Amino acid sequence: MIPDLAALHAQGAAQQPTYPDPTAVDAAVARLRSFPPLVFAGECDDLKGKLAAVSRGEAFLLQGGDCAETLAGVTAENVRNKLRVLLQMAVVLTYSGSVPVVKLGRLAGQYAKPRSSDFETRETPEGPVTLPAYRGDAVNGFDFTAEARMPDPHRLVDVYNASAATLNLIRAFVNGGYADLRQVHTWNTDFVRESHHAQRYEQMANEIERALTFMKAIGANPDEFHRVDFYSSHEALVLEYEHALTRIDSRTDLPYDVSSHFVWIGERTRQIDGAHVELLSRIQNPIGVKLGPTTTADDALALAAKLNPANEPGRLTFITRFGADKIREGLAPVVEKVTAAGTNVAWVCDPMHGNTFTASSGYKTRRFDDVIEEVQGFFDVHRALGTWPGGVHVELTGDDVTECVGGGEELAEIDLGNRYESVCDPRLNRVQSLELSFLVAKMLRQA
Ligand code: PEP
Ligand code: MN
Repeated sequence: MIPDLAALHAQGAAQQPTYPDPTAVDAAVARLRSFPPLVFAGECDDLKGKLAAVSRGEAFLLQGGDCAETLAGVTAENVRNKLRVLLQMAVVLTYSGSVPVVKLGRLAGQYAKPRSSDFETRETPEGPVTLPAYRGDAVNGFDFTAEARMPDPHRLVDVYNASAATLNLIRAFVNGGYADLRQVHTWNTDFVRESHHAQRYEQMANEIERALTFMKAIGANPDEFHRVDFYSSHEALVLEYEHALTRIDSRTDLPYDVSSHFVWIGERTRQIDGAHVELLSRIQNPIGVKLGPTTTADDALALAAKLNPANEPGRLTFITRFGADKIREGLAPVVEKVTAAGTNVAWVCDPMHGNTFTASSGYKTRRFDDVIEEVQGFFDVHRALGTWPGGVHVELTGDDVTECVGGGEELAEIDLGNRYESVCDPRLNRVQSLELSFLVAKMLRQA
């Protein structure tokens, strides 16, 4: 039912590491195959049901996290901060946007990156040096040395362990009281004095608290007040990892990729005859595909036919990333034709990847205003067509980094060096993320 790894590679797999030692690859894959699942198939089905509600216009997806997780970043503080900002954003969208929010982290597996070039050249005092590009901690190291940049398959085992630790902590947080709505103030406490948006959040939290007290007084205290459903996702890129973690579910006898609840195919690996589309067409998880500015309606329809032949609601999410200047013209014909064909799909906006540029200081960055402009374009296209703007997919962190410019704090290009920590694309910081959620909530009220 699932092609073996060699057959998948033979089919043509873009963006794969070139491992120097095939025996070491086999050993790493064998270990991964022996490990237990990171998620359960039933949880994937639950998420699929929630995404079906998104595709029907009854819920909104918030998907967010790092561009690239790092093994060193698996600390309690880092994971908690990411979860905390996502919980804050979700509560803003739910309360202020008046819509159920599906919460999906870009975490516990987001360790492999597609690159535009296989190599990176840097000037050194001894002249230019060319090494393999950094492809994420799943593949090689970030340091610019020949040793670090050599792809090492054992890293896939490290990624499994790091993802297990991350998910374990997330599960403990969301089920152990941290995600209780009565914590709505606590998520903000170290932050409240720092920004206008945090203060705005505080006012909203006061209103929620009053509502909770009222509900309690009348005897209503449902489970939903005390915990949330939080799911994991990452780009399914390195075939060895995804294949080894694809397992037959004992309930249904069907294959699931148990590395994550949701996996997506990136803009650079969505070739209709390629290995990534092939593998993800065989699994039962809810899946996504990134659609960039060159996507035609026929491309989208071909992907839907291959990835969701039964047209099952919730199975397929199109994550569009056209860029602020291309979204209005580019997205409309795709949505129009896909909708006219009766295709069930959730439409989600990634306002990050079409808006990246290099600042004069050399840092890769994004303008907050471009991010918002793309989301606004996304909402406008859907409103004009009578379709549902189903969610946002954002690169963010819970920390006060300086990676994207603009936002209410007016971070300037000159500030980028202060705290630029991403090993790949620039992320919204905590204030920018909260601001985005207020702006999106406003768009939702008008949708
Ligand atoms: C990403 O999500 O980090 C990414 C590489 O996106 P895309 O495939 O849309 O370029
Ligand atoms: Mn990215």
